[in-house]
Amino acid sequence: MQRITILGATGSIGVSTLDVLARHPDKYRVYALSAHSRVEELAAQCAQFRPERAVVGTAEAAQRLAALLAEQGVRTEVEYGEAALCAIASSAGTDTVMAAIVGAAGLAPTLAAARAGKKILLANKEALVMSGQLFMDAVQAHGATLLPIDSEHNAIFQSLPQSYARSPKAAGVAKILLTASGGPFLKRAVETLENVTPAEACKHPNWEMGRKISVDSATMMNKGLEVIEAHWLFGAPASLIEVVIHPQSVIHSMVSYTDGSVIAELGNPDMRTPIANALAFPERIESGVAQLDLTVVGTLQFEKPDFKRFPCLALAFEALEAGGTAPALLNAANEVAVEAFLDSRIGFREIDRVIARVMHENPHGAASSIDAVMAQDAHARRAAAGIIAGQAR
Ligand code: NAD
Ligand code: MG
Repeated sequence: MQRITILGATGSIGVSTLDVLARHPDKYRVYALSAHSRVEELAAQCAQFRPERAVVGTAEAAQRLAALLAEQGVRTEVEYGEAALCAIASSAGTDTVMAAIVGAAGLAPTLAAARAGKKILLANKEALVMSGQLFMDAVQAHGATLLPIDSEHNAIFQSLPQSYARSPKAAGVAKILLTASGGPFLKRAVETLENVTPAEACKHPNWEMGRKISVDSATMMNKGLEVIEAHWLFGAPASLIEVVIHPQSVIHSMVSYTDGSVIAELGNPDMRTPIANALAFPERIESGVAQLDLTVVGTLQFEKPDFKRFPCLALAFEALEAGGTAPALLNAANEVAVEAFLDSRIGFREIDRVIARVMHENPHGAASSIDAVMAQDAHARRAAAGIIAGQAR
């Protein structure tokens, strides 16, 4: 029995994970679940999966959850706050941690799982983007196992040899080809992007996702964060990572080898595939995803990304090249700008302008410690909030 903690159980990835787990009660047991504010959903999940522990964001939410569980006679222990998240991620009671909190809020518990030597299923790309080398060092030092859930990175992971040791050269890798759908605005007239609404930005053509990552997909910051994620996961310099627009999202990414071979992973766009892959690795389990029928898909298309249409992609490459705490600066500015956009406080195109200003007006430093990264994150959030307050509609 693999015992599992899900950080961010009520989100899109959390719900898909529970869907896969429910298909294999003989293999997996839920140890703990967390949610930030969706207490009713978490209560229903606790009633179904009977975890030992559940963690929410605040004392008030914990009280409400405890009351709901008591009504149903569910004996899950209720806790709240960041220390409790770190505790369920590092407890001796769990083997595997699904890191599916969105944004920087997931860094501390995901790092706690690494330091406890857990098997980490990483969806929370922002945590790795922020902490980069420090996170990879913690994984190595504590004997943790890191498996990518992001569909592109899971595809790359499946397309590399199982013995891959973060050295593209040794494995004969010529290029990592990171595919991108291009999001909802791939073909929309650039001048009209100023007027995009949150609802339009969240309507992704191929994937059902949380609101933050949906906006990131519309700006292509998501792909930018994924370039940085791929750099750390696979030990690949930026020059080896190429973004390819592939609107059908059937090829989830590819590895191009020096002998001319290209290995790809294909499938229907459904996150239960990478989740099942990482849960069962190196075995295979049923995920609930329908088999891919290429004759129904018919055509696969590819094109180069337009960095002028998607300035966030260029900003992410810039942050990766700059190194140190620059990716943390980028990520924090993006989180603040996306939230302001979703609240209709700024327009869609302000997102990249805010991030560019935060990056270019604030120095970054060495990512010498998690404290240094968190200080950069806090500083970037204040800077972004200041810029947004100055130009709010
Ligand atoms: P979501 O918004 O649907 O869910 C986020 C989860 O995080 C929720 O359970 C929420 O309760 C929790 N959460 C939010 N803020 C929190 C906070 N401050 N403290 C603690 N918990 C908090 O997001 P999602 O789409 O499931 O994405 C989760 C992560 O997975 C993101 O990092 C995203 O980039 C990554 N990811 C998602 C997909 C996808 O298809 N949805 C694909 C690849 C990667
Ligand atoms: Mg992805």
